[in-house]
Amino acid sequence: MTAVRHWWTGLFAKYVASLVGLVTFVLAFNGGVEAGLMYRDITNAVVRLESEKAQFAGQRIGQFIDEIERQIGWATRASAGADQRRADYMLLLQQVAAIDQLAWLDGSGKEVLNISRSGTGRVTGADYSRSPKFTQALANRVWFGPGYFRNGTEPYFTIAMAHAVRNAGVTVSEIDLGHLEDLVRTIQVGKTGYVYVIGSQGRVLARSAQYRVQSGTDVSNLPQVAPLLSVANAKPERIAHGRDIDGRSVLASSASIPRVGWSVLVEQPLGEALEPMYALLGRLAWLIGMGLVVAACAGALLARRMVVPIRALQTGASRLAASEFDHRIDVRTGDEIEVLASEFNRMATHLQESYSRLEQKVEERTRDLAQSVRELKALEEIGRAVASSLELQSVLETIVTRAVELARADAGAIYRYEASLREFRLAEAHGLDPSLVEAVRGTRIRESESAMGEAATARKPIVIADLATIPNYPLRDLTLAAGFHSVLIVPLVGPEEILGSLVVQRRETGDFPGNIVSLMQTFADQSVLAMANARLFREIEEKSRQLEIASQHKSQFLANMSHELRTPLNAVLGYAELMVDGLYGQLPDKAVGILERMQANGRHLLGLINDVLDLSKIEAGQFTLALEDYSMKSVVGSVVAATESLAQAKGLALTAEVAADLPTGRGDERRLTQVLLNIVSNAIKFTEVGSVEIRADAANGCFQVRVRDTGPGIAPQDQARIFEEFQQADNSITRQKGGTGLGLAISKHLIEMHGGTLSLQSELGVGSTFQILLPMRVEAQSTPA
Ligand code: ADP
Repeated sequence: MTAVRHWWTGLFAKYVASLVGLVTFVLAFNGGVEAGLMYRDITNAVVRLESEKAQFAGQRIGQFIDEIERQIGWATRASAGADQRRADYMLLLQQVAAIDQLAWLDGSGKEVLNISRSGTGRVTGADYSRSPKFTQALANRVWFGPGYFRNGTEPYFTIAMAHAVRNAGVTVSEIDLGHLEDLVRTIQVGKTGYVYVIGSQGRVLARSAQYRVQSGTDVSNLPQVAPLLSVANAKPERIAHGRDIDGRSVLASSASIPRVGWSVLVEQPLGEALEPMYALLGRLAWLIGMGLVVAACAGALLARRMVVPIRALQTGASRLAASEFDHRIDVRTGDEIEVLASEFNRMATHLQESYSRLEQKVEERTRDLAQSVRELKALEEIGRAVASSLELQSVLETIVTRAVELARADAGAIYRYEASLREFRLAEAHGLDPSLVEAVRGTRIRESESAMGEAATARKPIVIADLATIPNYPLRDLTLAAGFHSVLIVPLVGPEEILGSLVVQRRETGDFPGNIVSLMQTFADQSVLAMANARLFREIEEKSRQLEIASQHKSQFLANMSHELRTPLNAVLGYAELMVDGLYGQLPDKAVGILERMQANGRHLLGLINDVLDLSKIEAGQFTLALEDYSMKSVVGSVVAATESLAQAKGLALTAEVAADLPTGRGDERRLTQVLLNIVSNAIKFTEVGSVEIRADAANGCFQVRVRDTGPGIAPQDQARIFEEFQQADNSITRQKGGTGLGLAISKHLIEMHGGTLSLQSELGVGSTFQILLPMRVEAQSTPA
């Protein structure tokens, strides 16, 4: 499974992003450097220009003051009287427009004359002897006063000049600095740049039109102004950065007018100065924008060129992974990707080839397997037929049908060998025409002159690839005429004798493959087995029939013999009894003793004969029960009465426990007593110490009679055997006690004829318990198993 990919994680996005990033970086870097340099150049140039202008303005102002000073100087040269002075002053006022007022201080510092342009001048007669305009003027000839403002905004300025003649006093002139503005007005700096002049107090004396600040405004706090006013610092000529009154950044430069302690400042708003730079930045931004678009397009194009073939590769690879081996990747980029694609294609071709080879192999294998499965099935079917069916003919039919099918032949047949005639006879055919079957049956196939005979002699299969090439054997022409041209003959041979032949035939000529031949060999072996089985079965059938007859004869004979033996034996016993009883006169004691032993042996013999007679009757199916009502209690009672003395003689405790109110049973009382007597006698006979217990009760419509002893017990391997005729437990105790091994066999028969069971539970060294389960009311005699 492929992980979910977003378009922004793909190659395409990476390519585009890298290219756009690179272009942006280069442009931005370049632009940044350019802008930095430009900023430096612009500020430098502006400041330089401003400085030049400030210098120029400063010079002009200097000249302006010099000119005024010169004019005043002219008025102070000669000594003159008051009228002369007044005339001089009036002339001066006429000539120099900037002079607003002229006053004459006499040698003692007292104002003696005052003329003003507006005619308001009035001599005050005030004493200025201590005023700097008097003292400084006397000391330095000229004294420039600080600027001051009338009405707050009209700048004025005082020049005091000592008269050339000693003690002639000082001319104090008030200069209207409004004229100063004419000097700076025309100075233009960019569009919004301006010029202004500040006095030593830091107030604006004059300003160009663009400067929005009123004359008289105190600008001493501006960063570019403050250093100019400080006395300690050398006054810088150039101040690059400053602020205007509104706090906006300006590029500023200044020039000082040393004589009066003023400064000219030329300033341009930074915004305006940097306009070209901003324009450049704008262009740059535009360029970056364009660059981005171009880079994005180029990136997209490039990425497409890369990504499309890579996608084709990817699709190709996943189709390959999905086993679409006939898919070819079509990439014609002429580069490594195309090489990779053709490698992929080569791989696909290889895979396709090996896949189809593999498929072919799998197909072959599957075919082989299917064939094997068919063969196995057929063999299993035949095996089952051989094992379960005693019908030889149907087994042979199965074999020949499957043989034809699996050998992919058109017909087949099994022939049986008649040893007495030394000939083969058709036993079973499959796929042969009835007329051909008829014809084959009518043909004598001698062992000596047939392909089947050859195969049987050689004991191995014969393949006849083309029937037309073999000698003129009996079946050759018939088979050829029926349209068969190739034949496989597999002999059916037992260890010693020939049994027959399995033949499969095909319409076309040609060899039979080795595996078919060996498969047919297996079929042939199965046929041999089936034939042998059939023969064995026939023999067994015959034997058991004979045995049955013999057994019947034996039973008959025994029944007759027993009867014949019993009659004279009874007579012998009767006479012996009469003799012991003294019917034929008193006999000596010795003779009586012998007679009694004769009697005992005779009775034993009679019992034996009775047993044999019973058994033979039972086996001959001639034994009939005398069914009548009986009491189980009395059956047990009579058995106890008969065996009590025996038990006593051996010192054994014989106990009988009969459940109260047992219902009346129906059965052969005499035979049931015989059975119980046999079991109890055995118990007493085989038990040396301990007890013999008889217990009778009823459950589920049955009498349950159990005889338990503390005798030697019966080994597990003997437990089933002792119920068979003439069988005894294989141990020394039994051998000591003698007996015939008939008692239990007869007992079992008798109980089973009553529809009941006789069973045994025993443990060696502990004792045995025989149990009779007997239906209470037996209305009909059962046939023992
Ligand atoms: P018999 O007693 O004449 O040999 P039975 O058919 O009555 O014939 O008994 C068969 C054998 O079963 C005995 O020979 C003996 O080996 C064994 N058998 C029968 N009853 C007992 C028993 N109560 N304890 C041990 N062995 C017994």
